[in-house]
Amino acid sequence: MNQYQGNGQLSPEEQEQLYKIRHSLAHIMAQAVLELYPEAKIAIGPPIDTGFYYDFDLGVDEEGRPRTFSPEDLEKIEKRMRQIISERHPFIYREVTADEAREIFKDQPYKLELIEGLEKGEVDEYGNEVDEKPVISTYRQDTFEDLCRGPHVEHTGQIPPDAFKLMSVAGAYWRGDENNPMLQRIYGTAWRNKKELNDYLKMMEEARKRDHRKLGRELEIYIFDEEVGPGLPLWLPNGAILIEELEKLAKEVEREAGYQRVRSPHVTKEDLFLRSGHLPYYAESMYPPMELEGVRYYVKPMNCPFHHKIFASRPRSYRELPLRLAEYGTCYRYEKSGELFGLMRVRSMQMNDAHIYCAEEQFEEEFMGVIALYRRYFELFGIDRYVMRLSTHHPRGLGKKYVDNERLWLKTEEMVRSAMRNGNDPFVEVPDEAAFYGPKIDVQIWSAIGREFTLATNQVDFAVPPRFDLKFVNREGQEETPLCIHRAPLSTHERLIGFLIEHYAGNFPVWLAPQQVVVIPITDAHNEYAANLARRLFDGGIRAEADLSSERMNAKIRQAQLMKVPYMLVVGDREVSQETVSLRKRDGSRRNDMPVGEFIALVQEKIATRAGD
Ligand code: ATP
Ligand code: ZN
Ligand code: ZN
Repeated sequence: MNQYQGNGQLSPEEQEQLYKIRHSLAHIMAQAVLELYPEAKIAIGPPIDTGFYYDFDLGVDEEGRPRTFSPEDLEKIEKRMRQIISERHPFIYREVTADEAREIFKDQPYKLELIEGLEKGEVDEYGNEVDEKPVISTYRQDTFEDLCRGPHVEHTGQIPPDAFKLMSVAGAYWRGDENNPMLQRIYGTAWRNKKELNDYLKMMEEARKRDHRKLGRELEIYIFDEEVGPGLPLWLPNGAILIEELEKLAKEVEREAGYQRVRSPHVTKEDLFLRSGHLPYYAESMYPPMELEGVRYYVKPMNCPFHHKIFASRPRSYRELPLRLAEYGTCYRYEKSGELFGLMRVRSMQMNDAHIYCAEEQFEEEFMGVIALYRRYFELFGIDRYVMRLSTHHPRGLGKKYVDNERLWLKTEEMVRSAMRNGNDPFVEVPDEAAFYGPKIDVQIWSAIGREFTLATNQVDFAVPPRFDLKFVNREGQEETPLCIHRAPLSTHERLIGFLIEHYAGNFPVWLAPQQVVVIPITDAHNEYAANLARRLFDGGIRAEADLSSERMNAKIRQAQLMKVPYMLVVGDREVSQETVSLRKRDGSRRNDMPVGEFIALVQEKIATRAGD
């Protein structure tokens, strides 16, 4: 979800007003659509962070494909919306019985389905699960009445007519389920005034340029191939360099922090995931099993059970704890096709995984040690905007989404809460978002273009150690069950690299840049010097190449700029005779007559310190 925080400075009242404007626009859009396309069926239309959307069903065409809206349709709808706004229609609230609601929406099958859920007390008017039986109510403006709890502006005239825009149409399954009909979702954006709208549109344009899916292709980092399949990236040589540098970083940091490295297979017998509880809790995110010699095997969606087995491979003493087992494990998850998104959400992923087994009294220090790792990485990458989120269970999900042990939920949640408070890390608490085996701290970050991700994760697990019969002998010579912490501060290579591409707009710091230096001869006569120089840099541990193609010098410079190579060395007669280089950095700054040795030392220093530029 795109989390543009352009309205982050608003007071709660201002935010409330903007929310009402966006929500009201969703209703007005639905009215306009029904007037222009009377056969349309309406589904749901909530306000969102940057505006609003509404889902419509336009039926299917002669070939059975869902009909959709064209850009011209959007213009017409927008124009009609402006008229409705100028007519200053009041928003009128009323409560109705389920029968009355069914009468009002008799031609709207999606609403009828929602009314059924509302009547049973299961869902709200957007189809979200609820705890209390909701009242059934509607809001009407002009000729349009919608199933809704509000709130809305008082009348349509309170909506600024020049601060919204219909942006796009996307397919969306009814209730997010691919077995349901595909609906047409119109997204609109809405702000308080024209300037805010324009700022947002400008930001979106910048976002388009930084989009990792676009840059990832241009910078030759990764591709998807139809025959390989959706969500299964192929890493090109430049991408493989990024992966290796990140892995090197993680391994250094983890070595220092006392982790040991292990390895585990990609495929395993069903029994292991039954024991771990992934089956059935996690089954829908797993690839279906394959059968070999009468036994069912799964590809792993997580590395945890293997590490548990390694822990259990021999008796453990308290002296070995905390035991920290790390692996850049490759996992496969059957993410729904509608949710796949570039590198951010893929189906094959390499996870910065580790499991820490510790005694209860070691928990706080270990947990906060992981938080310290986050900090270290965030500083390195210059990530200063993030929110830590404590995800807890919800009693409603016990035995379904969550392991059925309320006492241990409450206890571990309190352990995490108190560790976080002692560490002075600001965090927000969100119920009903925990892992199935325990509470977790997730870190939400925003890329430079406002895209929000869960990057790092730090999870407590009280459920799995007993399932795997994990034990250690404590100081008193008695058997005790350890706690397990699952953590992935650097997320997966896929999500992290997707993020970093946008964060740096492809201008990776030198240590990460796939190509660090390109040597550009002024004419063919300087080719030999250029090639030797590149070789010397290469031998000095620098990723350098000479561009000896037949292009003209300016074309070579342009090419290096497009590829965002940090350093360009232009060499001609002067450089050859003096054994120097003329340095051009990708930001356009230059330095002439730099001794070769000095340049090498400069680059080596940047790499060794993982400097930020
Ligand atoms: P999400 O809620 O995003 O699906 P999760 O809670 O299932 O993630 P974990 O099992 O905790 O994820 O995985 C560890 C980390 O791996 C996550 O914090 C996230 O950064 C990353 N990750 C999870 N799923 C994917 C995916 N499909 N593609 C890329 N990275 C992923
Ligand atoms: Zn509404
Ligand atoms: Zn794990």
